[in-house]
Amino acid sequence: MKIQYKEAKNIITRSNIPTIDFVINPYIGCQHGCIYCYAEFMKRFTNHKGDKWGQFLDVKTYDYDKIKPQRYNGKRILLSSVTDPYIPLELKYQNTRKILEKLIGTEAEISILTKSKFVVRDIDLFKKFENIEVGISINTLDKEFAKIIEPGASRPLERLNALKEIHKNNIHTYTFISPFFPELTDFQAIIEETFDYSDGFMFENLNFRPHNIPRIMNIIKVQYSRLLPLYQDFRVNHARWDIIEERIKKFCLNKKISDFKIEFHHGGFSKS
Ligand code: SF4
Repeated sequence: MKIQYKEAKNIITRSNIPTIDFVINPYIGCQHGCIYCYAEFMKRFTNHKGDKWGQFLDVKTYDYDKIKPQRYNGKRILLSSVTDPYIPLELKYQNTRKILEKLIGTEAEISILTKSKFVVRDIDLFKKFENIEVGISINTLDKEFAKIIEPGASRPLERLNALKEIHKNNIHTYTFISPFFPELTDFQAIIEETFDYSDGFMFENLNFRPHNIPRIMNIIKVQYSRLLPLYQDFRVNHARWDIIEERIKKFCLNKKISDFKIEFHHGGFSKS
């Protein structure tokens, strides 16, 4: 792992994501190194063109006293969008914790999203916020598959235990079932598993991008060769995703889940 410090001009930045006003990314790069990661484009803008995603980390340095919690009142802040706030190295560098400490007192709505068991470290801090939710991103309960596609992240059971612990501490939780791998993401099993300790659910499809297509297809070819033609079709045929969307909707309504959001985007399809 190549690690260096990088001075950040700003640590809470405006967001292009609809419904999110600001994002916080305490690091550049992500130790989790997920094979489908959409944030890998960051390499181009951060002098990491030749580096392998998951093999470098820029630890941002910033004068955290400059963070003014009231500035974000009424806004929605996501932590994080192009890294994971609770990568293992967060235990050493603690950027996420330092930022959250400075945000105490804000009336912003804070949404934490992670694939890491280490999120439980900050339960004491989460309790100090008026409006906070903590989400776990998960797309399989199969630890072997998770290890292949998300090599550096916590295993599914560890993530679920973390979510359970956070919920037990009366903090609003959500399960982000993402990215949805056709025929491999058993969303019903994940919902059944998390139903008692997840206050909401979100779903996102697998977006095929030029940089991740070879990796995804190669894994499907090697591990699940029978699914290869199906995945080739999913790349170009949006109607297939619509069917999944309907199945999710139906299941959630039957289960009387009131808080669920399906964010299936098709902008990432590539003909390459
Ligand atoms: S945890 Fe998120 S940001 Fe990190 S590699 Fe995985 S998908 Fe990318």
